[in-house]
Amino acid sequence: MEATFIWLGVGGLFCLSLLIYVRQFRNRRSADLERLIQNRELGMDRPTGQYPLIDAAACIGCGTCVSACPEHDVLGIVMGRSVVINGARCIGHGKCAEACPVGAIRIGLGDITKRDDIPVLSAEGQTNLPGLWIAGELSGFALINNAVAQGRKVIEAIAATGGPREVGPSEVFDVVVVGAGPAGMSAGLVAGELGLSCVILDQQGAGGTILQYPRRKLVMVQPVEFPRMGRLPRHEYVKEELLEIWDSLHRDYGLDIRVGPRVTGVKGRKGDFTVETTAGNWRARHVVLALGRRGSPRRLNVPGEDLGKVAFQLIDAEAYKGRRVLVVGGGDSAVEAAMGLAHQDGCQVTLSYRKPELMRIKQRNSERVEALIAQDRIAFLGGTNVKTILADRVVLEGPTGPIMLPNDEVFILAGGVPPFALLREIGVAFGGDQKDAERAEAARAAKAAESPGGVGSGVQSA
Ligand SMILES: Cc1cc2nc3c(=O)[nH]c(=O)nc-3n(C[C@H](O)[C@H](O)[C@H](O)COP(=O)(O)OP(=O)(O)OC[C@H]3O[C@@H](n4cnc5c(N)ncnc54)[C@H](O)[C@@H]3O)c2cc1C
Repeated sequence: MEATFIWLGVGGLFCLSLLIYVRQFRNRRSADLERLIQNRELGMDRPTGQYPLIDAAACIGCGTCVSACPEHDVLGIVMGRSVVINGARCIGHGKCAEACPVGAIRIGLGDITKRDDIPVLSAEGQTNLPGLWIAGELSGFALINNAVAQGRKVIEAIAATGGPREVGPSEVFDVVVVGAGPAGMSAGLVAGELGLSCVILDQQGAGGTILQYPRRKLVMVQPVEFPRMGRLPRHEYVKEELLEIWDSLHRDYGLDIRVGPRVTGVKGRKGDFTVETTAGNWRARHVVLALGRRGSPRRLNVPGEDLGKVAFQLIDAEAYKGRRVLVVGGGDSAVEAAMGLAHQDGCQVTLSYRKPELMRIKQRNSERVEALIAQDRIAFLGGTNVKTILADRVVLEGPTGPIMLPNDEVFILAGGVPPFALLREIGVAFGGDQKDAERAEAARAAKAAESPGGVGSGVQSA
């Protein structure tokens, strides 16, 4: 009798745990589906670089890949299969592929002939324009180790283009590198090692995207040989440690980095390029574009935008305690920055957005920001546009007329302008161009087929 009770108890406990597990499992799965739908609406499901290519037939939906991802919410399980939910957050670490017990995942770029954001490159990184090279994440492959390796490869290929260097005016550099992220820094270091004259131009500062990581972010660095410095001894660093390494490379090897110029065009051809920037032109025999894929911050083009108090990214919210801050933008980054600032003692936050309501943000952000607006911790000015930024105030135009806002700091977080249009203007060919040509040809054929006497109408024109 006693034994029966014990068995019943054990059985009951087992059933209860099973029930809880199944419930949690189903909740997680329906949350994944919701995230997928929401991210699709916001266009965030699409990856920017390499991403997990999942063989749906082989996937057993065990979720090991989901838990293995160091960036956390890239993958999810929908309809019993692993899917990319938040592609924009994928860095390409490849931990999901390593963890998959059935080998259903590999990391790649997909069919690059169909991607109009992947430039066509030779094995060494040369574009369709001789003398114009691409290194780093702009090529499609993210990760610091890939960027460093590619920076080295393009400079070695340039040095191998051979023979005695063409003679020319001394102000013509052997190489102008655009971008001082891992790829550009690596290119600059190798150029110095191989005796090529080189200048690195960056609109923002040495460090590239790493500068924009959140404070104390843990960075995973896969094994890589840093030019002149050798292999990094550890696999994990916090952002600030990595930036110190960057600074020491800059200092110790005398890299010529010019911070501030934004490159707006490249003219000329191999042997005599002109790199056009917002701070004048540079001439070079070869140009290496190491721009990354995040592009330049979108500007408002209003008077005062170049004042020191205007920034295009928020790195350390704590530094703005007691300040009167205006955040401009209506996307997730603007809203997240406004919320981060609203939690700092004495920080008065105003959020200005050109549309009357915040619509294109994640559900979670929407709920949190609405609560802060309701508590008067964020003043939301919907339907407003910044007209002028002055040292102690900002003038906005609102639905009922001008608004004068006393102000100490401005963050313009209105998204980025991807670098692809600039590349197209320069003349760089993309993988998807072929597809565009095919599409245009198909459209022409369809139109011809529709018109009387066209191809497919059965009537041959004379
Ligand atoms: C949140 C986050 C976390 C990440 N975590 C990791 C990680 O843990 N491990 C890892 O290996 N990788 C990580 N990455 C990826 C890694 O940061 C990138 O792959 C790497 O920085 C790419 O290097 P890059 O030199 O090609 O380009 P970037 O680092 O993007 O540098 C490009 C530079 O070009 C400059 N530039 C762009 N356009 C112009 C222009 N027109 N004129 C002048 N300058 C211009 C920019 O200012 C920038 O400084 C992460 C990325 C993000 C966003």
